[in-house]
Amino acid sequence: MPESLVYRGRFAPSPTGPLHLGSLYTALASFLQAHSKQGQWLLRIDDLDTPRNVAGAADRILKTLDNFGLHWDGAVDYQSQHLEDYQAALETLRAQQQVYACVCSRKSLAAISSSAIYPGICRNQNYSADQPLAWRVKTDHRQIHFNDLLQGEVSHHLASQHGDFILKRKEGIIAYPLAVVVDDTRQQINHIVRGVDLLDATPKQIYLQQLLGLPLPGYMHVPVIVDQQGQKLSKQTLAAPVDEFVPQLTIFRLLQWLRQNPPDELQQAPVAELLAWAILHWQPDALKKVASIALP
Ligand code: GLU
Repeated sequence: MPESLVYRGRFAPSPTGPLHLGSLYTALASFLQAHSKQGQWLLRIDDLDTPRNVAGAADRILKTLDNFGLHWDGAVDYQSQHLEDYQAALETLRAQQQVYACVCSRKSLAAISSSAIYPGICRNQNYSADQPLAWRVKTDHRQIHFNDLLQGEVSHHLASQHGDFILKRKEGIIAYPLAVVVDDTRQQINHIVRGVDLLDATPKQIYLQQLLGLPLPGYMHVPVIVDQQGQKLSKQTLAAPVDEFVPQLTIFRLLQWLRQNPPDELQQAPVAELLAWAILHWQPDALKKVASIALP
């Protein structure tokens, strides 16, 4: 098979704490989709947001994935080792006059309006570099469409649903939408499987791919796991780290929540056997239009 036709997927956790069931669920879906296509599954640690990084979390994530049999292909990629790539992409957009400096603070914006859409205050200003500047991309009235493999057609009006969004924060941190498109290009990722909580972030990424002339990957946004209160499992909702003691039981349960109906006789099977079964029988369509899975 030519290299360009090989499926290349990835899992890209942020090292803000140990994996919880929700993040392992996404990792498993992305792993199964890649392997069911005889593809590669890469691992990237999204460690750009340094204030949120937790010491030791990245290593712990790697150990957990290993323990659950979710072995990745190639070397682990760390965003923090590619700062010059993000800056180069920003410079390209600057040369195209697609970005502008912004001095607005969250507080000053909240005082003007409750909308999350930036009202364009700094669009036509020229600030000198002797003050902290954020960088925003100019958006226009285009409609961004994509066809998500599970969630179906998505169409967003860029200016009214997203507005001019931040690419680099005042503290000098590259923002997620810019980093992710540069990363996925660098790693030659052609299929992205991730949580549906990132569905609405996707049009911004597609817009940047269009501006930078980058390849467009395919997208599959899987449901998120919610707790008994209906809240997405996350570090903010204090989701517990996954129980590492009996990994096969957890994988079995995750497969049930991925609606894969693993046979009862595999309940006690070693993870490698369970994963081999799951790759062979992987039917992501069982998750079509499902936004969340509630913990029992
Ligand atoms: N690092 C992001 C997160 O943990 C995921 C990025 C992505 O999959 O595009 O939410």
